[in-house]
Amino acid sequence: MLISLSEVMNCRDQEIKMSVPIGFDVFHQSKAEYPVYEKSELSLLLISDAAKKVRISAQAKIVLKAPCDRCLEEVELPFDLCIEQEVDFSRTGQEQAEELDEKAYISGFDLDTDQLVFEELLVAFPAKVLCFEDCKGICGVCGANLNSGECGCDRTALDPRMTAIWDIFNNFKEV
Ligand SMILES: [Zn+2]
Ligand SMILES: [Zn+2]
Repeated sequence: MLISLSEVMNCRDQEIKMSVPIGFDVFHQSKAEYPVYEKSELSLLLISDAAKKVRISAQAKIVLKAPCDRCLEEVELPFDLCIEQEVDFSRTGQEQAEELDEKAYISGFDLDTDQLVFEELLVAFPAKVLCFEDCKGICGVCGANLNSGECGCDRTALDPRMTAIWDIFNNFKEV
């Protein structure tokens, strides 16, 4: 949703509070897509001071669904977003252009609330998604989920770390 910040700047030293819906149902990150499972509204607090700076405080709760990196079971990822940003419209020319270039959620005098939430999710998204810390993953031979029990396959040949160790071992024997 686009919110005009020029209106905010016209009521200096006033706080503008509002709640806006989050407009996307899928979160795209690099090549992956994660469906939004639950989302609150985005509560926004906009404060403008005499120096043409607008302070943006925003909160939202979002739950994404993502597959576990090891076993592919679907995991719920809750995010409690707390966003604090400041946009300075008092700068001129190049400075202004550079600052606004970095802030993709600002275009002209408009605040793109979905973009604001999206950028915050990008930062908050975990490097690794695990259903639980000790997830055993899936068997590379039969595809069984090893969290529900050992399938009995011989996986040593498939493990690249083991292969490396065997290589070293064999080279050592030949010397
Ligand atoms: Zn898992
Ligand atoms: Zn197996």
